[in-house]
Amino acid sequence: MKRRAARSPAPAEPARPAPGRPSVESHLGILHRVAEIVNRTLDVDDVLRTAVEALTQVTGHEIASLHLLSQDGATLQLRGDRGMSARLREVNQVLPVGQGLIGRVAATGETLQLEKTYEDPHLFPPAKATVQEEQIRGFICVPIHCRGRILGTLSLGRKTLDRFDAHEVALVEAAADQIGIALDNARLYSETRRQLDELRRAQEQLIRAEKLSAVGELASGVAHEINNPLTTILGQTHLLLGHPEVTPHVRERLGIVADEATRAARIVQNLLMFARHYTPERRPCSLADQARRVLELKGYQLQQDGIRVVTDFARCPAVLADDNQLQQVLLNLVQNAHQAMAGQERERVLSVRVWSADGSGHVEVRDTGPGIPADVLPKVFDPFFTTKPPGEGSGLGLSVSYGLITELGGRLRAGNHPEGGAVFVIELPLAEGAA
Ligand code: ADP
Repeated sequence: MKRRAARSPAPAEPARPAPGRPSVESHLGILHRVAEIVNRTLDVDDVLRTAVEALTQVTGHEIASLHLLSQDGATLQLRGDRGMSARLREVNQVLPVGQGLIGRVAATGETLQLEKTYEDPHLFPPAKATVQEEQIRGFICVPIHCRGRILGTLSLGRKTLDRFDAHEVALVEAAADQIGIALDNARLYSETRRQLDELRRAQEQLIRAEKLSAVGELASGVAHEINNPLTTILGQTHLLLGHPEVTPHVRERLGIVADEATRAARIVQNLLMFARHYTPERRPCSLADQARRVLELKGYQLQQDGIRVVTDFARCPAVLADDNQLQQVLLNLVQNAHQAMAGQERERVLSVRVWSADGSGHVEVRDTGPGIPADVLPKVFDPFFTTKPPGEGSGLGLSVSYGLITELGGRLRAGNHPEGGAVFVIELPLAEGAA
């Protein structure tokens, strides 16, 4: 066995092609070829594959393998090979750093050269039988480095008894250096590509945000104009609904008018809030009162769809919030619960609870609908995210609600109840706590 310090100068021994070995090009020519091929590509896998091919084709070594260090530096992974039997490839697939012949080269950074590989006591035990059976005799393993870091190893083996001469060792070391540089280039290139992609994505997002804000401004202008006639339609419809002379048939139709007008009003309100982004006024307000008002507003529609409303309002001091905005948020939650339960077979119950704990007021809106699927849950607060068909959902309700509650210093959480159905909880700081 012969061990050499890495990169020791090669003695001036003439290169002599051994009998029976394929004739080799001049070493300089080989190195040139390897360098040219590995530097032609910037893809790591390509570098590895072409490097091994170039080296074995020109030098005539029977077996070649290229290992790269894993991210954690604990193992070496086979990334390119030539002339290996399936069994040899299998035992070489993952090698522990520091153990076996190749693992030790990766740990020490020193070139290793052997004449009778199968007799070496350091041979990786799982590889021993295969190396013996396949009569791999001559072996050389060199580290691949770049910028003082070991990236992996390059190994060559042959089944004949000719030892690798000093020129060949120097050649393999120089080829490994070329591979190291090519790998580093590929890494730099892929890092630059990644950064470029990120930049492009950020730019696209910026353009989208710009467009969104332009659309938002336009929409808010239109929404503002629509708001007043909508309020009149809703007011008049409710007046008519309360009139004693209205026949059941007309009442039913008026109910539809009220439903649709409320839906339109909600969309308009959400659009206005989304586009305007105005700062809320913080006043002490009662969560139970706001919840009651919203349930009153929606009472008729909920009743029409056979939804039972259950309330449980425990004593809760006033919270600091903007009552209009709080109503808007509650209306969004109740409306979603309504939509989730409408048309389903099982019992439709909307539960609204109010309580106080840990310096915060809480409102919970829970339904007995299908609940929120796991893949949808992380996205429900994203602007314009909706699972509803066009015309039914704008995807703004929860995103606006989330923004409003966060602005008020509170939290809005979404989840599913163990017995089924969705649960939304609003948490807002108590006025007295804040004072
Ligand atoms: P929209 O109601 O217009 O779709 P939202 O922002 O209010 O917009 O809701 C976003 C999505 O969250 C809905 O499309 C739906 O998939 C889901 N979601 C909201 N509330 C519920 C609920 N109570 N039950 C089931 N899914 C819900």
